[in-house]
This record gives sequence, structure tokens and C-alpha cells, in this order.
Amino acid sequence: MGNLKIRDVRTILTAPEGIALVVVKVETTEPGLYGLGCATFTQRPLAVRSAIDDYLKPFLIGKDPCRIEDIWQTSMVSAYWRNGPVLNNALSGVDMALWDIKGKLAGMPVYDLLGGKCREGAAVYRHADGRDEKEVEDNVRKWMEQGYRYIRCQMGGYGGRGHTIHKTRNAPPGAYYDPDAYASSVVKLFEHLRKELGFEIQLLHDVHERLVPIEAVRLAKQLEPYNLFFLEDALPPEQIEWFKMIRQQTTTPIAMGELFNNPHEWIPLIVNRLIDFIRVHISQIGGITPAKKLAVLCEAFGIRTAWHGPGDVSPVGHAANIHLDVSCPNFGVQEWSGISDKLREVFPGAPEVENGYAYPNDKPGLGIDIDEKKAAKYPISNELPQWTLARFPDGTAVKP
Ligand code: MG
Repeated sequence: MGNLKIRDVRTILTAPEGIALVVVKVETTEPGLYGLGCATFTQRPLAVRSAIDDYLKPFLIGKDPCRIEDIWQTSMVSAYWRNGPVLNNALSGVDMALWDIKGKLAGMPVYDLLGGKCREGAAVYRHADGRDEKEVEDNVRKWMEQGYRYIRCQMGGYGGRGHTIHKTRNAPPGAYYDPDAYASSVVKLFEHLRKELGFEIQLLHDVHERLVPIEAVRLAKQLEPYNLFFLEDALPPEQIEWFKMIRQQTTTPIAMGELFNNPHEWIPLIVNRLIDFIRVHISQIGGITPAKKLAVLCEAFGIRTAWHGPGDVSPVGHAANIHLDVSCPNFGVQEWSGISDKLREVFPGAPEVENGYAYPNDKPGLGIDIDEKKAAKYPISNELPQWTLARFPDGTAVKP
């Protein structure tokens, strides 16, 4: 493939569901041969676009797209400063697109390039929420009826809702919550769910960093009788040393990592066996190349994968997740936010879910395409999010 070169790199912004998605298209000198990757960082899409169009594109044009490892390594250090959001997302888009191109050249799906399937489909989990315990239970049952066996349960969204918030005068705007009331409500919720649903269904919960460390330790301990499949992001990345404390206190399985950017955030948690599931956002760590290496590292330490899979991952990113899921022996579970008909029109070939399992299609590469005309019908809005402005009742800004 010595003559094949990268001819162009393009960034496509689209928001079919109102969530800004960033997709990279790497075009080659072979007519019709291109790859797609997910570079989505939905809160900073224009910054990612600039990182791709203004910096990676001129760096990549003329290079051999088959040299994925070399391109990843050199792109990562070409700015000297590295391992941060925005630049990692941009590189992820390029990296996934190169795996897509290589699969198309080989006539193989990406999962075959990664070692081949070790399972036919990836078990996925869905989200159930509700205003009270009964409504959450009803929503869990709805997913169960559709064949899902893993359900993440929240009540009132992150940090809970409906608690009396004792504010100061002149309280600034923000997403207020009471951490103590939230933590107690979670224990009551799972007590209710296990009483009504039994122990056969797998239940999960996402703290979304909304507790101070010792409260997170206490919650993990209090949830132990309810056999969670995992408790997610009990602490912010800035407090990972506290996972030792959680480990000493409870057998509640711990999932961590959607905010991680730098290998030194995950390495200590893995080698000290302080977590059970690695949950990074693949676009946030730089794509399939580092994700495969991370999965292999985890395998050696008995830790399973549970890649981040919310609505702010494009269907291209979901496809990359599923290709990894079916080919990594230490796969645990895949978060699945669903792919609407509108998204499927823009992204033909997106993974399908049947009876609780997601399946990649078996076409070469990632098996997914983008209809650019349809994508252009859904411009992004670039509004700043409000939910990230989390505050304690006295107005203190906290991790969201
Ligand atoms: Mg999460």
C-alpha cells in the first residue's frame, strides 16, 4: 500500500438529536476509499474542529493511512503538550477513521483486525429514571420486557431531585442538589428495587462524582446488600486515591473513568486492582489504538471494560465501542443510549440491538457511513450547557 496517501481530512458537525456530534472523515488518494471516526466532545465542538482542521489536517495530508501506530504516536506529540481533552478527541476521530480505512482495504470488519470475535454480541445496559421509586421500577420493567438484563437506575437525574434546597441569599444560578439527601435516596431506591424486582436483573448506578469522598465510601458500603453490577464514578478523577478506601470497606463493584484523558489517571487504579470496570470515553483517550491497549492492560489485572456510550458519542463512536466489545475477552457491559431513526438516517450501518445485545454489522471497516447531505440538515447550536454548573445548597460550585 506504499502509494496510498491521505488526501484530505474533513470535520463534520451535526446534531440530529440536538446533541452536537463531531465526525472526522479521512479521505485517501484511492477514489471512494475513506474512513470515519468519532471526535465528539459535545461541550466544545468548535475547539475540536479547529484542532482537526487547523492542526491535524496539515500534519496528515500526504501520509500513508496504513501507518496507524506511527500516526497516533506522532500526532500525540506534535503539539508537545498532550493528553488533554480537545486534542485527544481530534486524534480519536483520525485514529478511528484510519482503522476504518484499514478494514476496508483488508476486506475485514475492525473486530477482525483486533483479533476476531470472542462473542457474537455485546450485552448493553439502558437507563431508567423516575420521580420516585415506583416510577423507576416501572421504567426498569419496561426495559426488561424488551429483553434488557442490565439497567442503570437513577431517581431524579444526577444528584437526585425534589429535596429541599436550603439556599443562601443572592444564590447564583446553577444546578443545585443536596448530596446527603441524594445519597440517602439512592439507598432507599435500591432497597425498593431489589424488594420488588428480585436479584436476577443486573442493576447499576452512576454517582456522577456528586459526593464528597467519605460520603462516596459510605454509599458504596450501604449499597453492598443490593448487589449492584457496578457503582459508577463514585468520585471525581481528582480524588482517585480514595478508591483504596472504598476497596477496603466494601465489595460493591466499582466502575470509573469517563472523564479520564491521561494514562496516569487509569494506570494506578488498574495495577492496584482498585476498580472492576474501566469506563473511559474512547474519543476522550484518543481512539481505538489506545483503547485496545487499555483493554489488554485491564485483562491482565482481571478488570473488565464498560466503555462510555451516552448520546454524546456519535453512532460512529458507538460502532467503535461495539467492535472492541465483541473482540476483547475481558468485556463487561456496554452502555447503550439508543440510536434513533433520525440518527440512523444520517449514519447508515449503525450497530443494531436485539434482545439486550448490540451487534456490529459485518461489513469491512467500522461498517458505518455518513450521509453528509442529511447531516447538514441538523446544524449544531453551540450553546453552553447548564447541567455542568453543579452547586451544593450553599452555592459552592462542585464537580458535576
Ligand atoms: Mg457516567
